Amino acid sequence: MLRRYDGAVMPVDLRSDTVTRPTAAMRAAMADAEVGDDVYGEDPTVNRLEQCAAAIIGKEAALFVPSGTMGNTIAIKMHTNHGEEVLCEAHSHMMDWELSMMAWFSGCLARTVASEAGILRWPNIEQAIRKGSPHCASTTLIAIENTHNMAGGTVYPLETIDQICDGAHERGLKVHMDGARVFNASAASGVPVDRIARNVDSVMFCLSKGLGAPVGSLLAGTRQDIDQARLYRKRLGGGMRQAGILAAAGLVALADVPERLVSDHANARLLVEGLADLPQLSVDSSRVQTNIVIFGIEKLGCSTNEFSGELKRRGVLANGVSSTHMRLVTHRDVTRADCEQAIEAISEAVYRFQPQAVPSEQ
Ligand SMILES: *Cc1c(COP(=O)(O)O)cnc(C)c1O
Repeated sequence: MLRRYDGAVMPVDLRSDTVTRPTAAMRAAMADAEVGDDVYGEDPTVNRLEQCAAAIIGKEAALFVPSGTMGNTIAIKMHTNHGEEVLCEAHSHMMDWELSMMAWFSGCLARTVASEAGILRWPNIEQAIRKGSPHCASTTLIAIENTHNMAGGTVYPLETIDQICDGAHERGLKVHMDGARVFNASAASGVPVDRIARNVDSVMFCLSKGLGAPVGSLLAGTRQDIDQARLYRKRLGGGMRQAGILAAAGLVALADVPERLVSDHANARLLVEGLADLPQLSVDSSRVQTNIVIFGIEKLGCSTNEFSGELKRRGVLANGVSSTHMRLVTHRDVTRADCEQAIEAISEAVYRFQPQAVPSEQ
């Protein structure tokens, strides 16, 4: 049941959309890339990528960074002072998966707000905002994640983003969008990315996920903020030299992206519909709006590691995201047939742990 890729036998890899390998067109562009020393601002391909990204996302300027984590870290730093609070969603990537960089690099405290399906609403944010006083540190930044990874790739409604930005700006606060997968949000909603990001003060998006480039993310915002961001990037060790080799792949990724993401979303839909037929799993198919499917295995009485092991034996790779939940992520390097294979592997694994059909609970 293994398929071939570039002559090698490969499993169906649904661990993340970061696992995509560069296409032949990307490799050709990388081989031919015109380069210079980007720390001197002299790499023409990086400069072209930054200009192109800024235009697409609708901001004055953009900065090429090695990772999304670095992009978020720099954004927090440029919008805050030491000792302030950053308001973010309780299971945001920034909170759970970025090694507390907000504290480590910016000296800020995360004030988390719980949400329905990863989507913060202005009234919940407003209640959690703190004004500086002799007793309280002030909130200065609000971070929103679009799409929301751990909620299963959920998409922010446009009016919710606009309300959050209006409310924040009225109070003199900044809004950063962790838009690692903002192109997925756009493909799902039909709203162009520059409209999605229009009112936020900064936005980070990844080239290395659904867009399929091997490395890199962009942080976009005002020219003044991005000039400052460039200095923080250097401090973090992100001053890359002939980075045009990498930027060249990013330019290819940006050129042929967004329409393609729609098929990743259709594949995720196929997966969740397959899983919904298995009563032993907990599946909320309304959450599946983009390329991420999260499902619960708590009724199986096994750990997510054990479940991953069973899938691996059947040629499918998937990770647990908590002690009870697994995540599947579709991307360019998995086909519809691969997803059908994954459903079969998951069904077999489910019956391996629960040989008897489970009557539904009522
Ligand atoms: C992947 C991701 C990032 C950044 O990831 P890197 O691995 O550092 O590039 C940031 N936010 C979200 C929501 C993500 O999914």
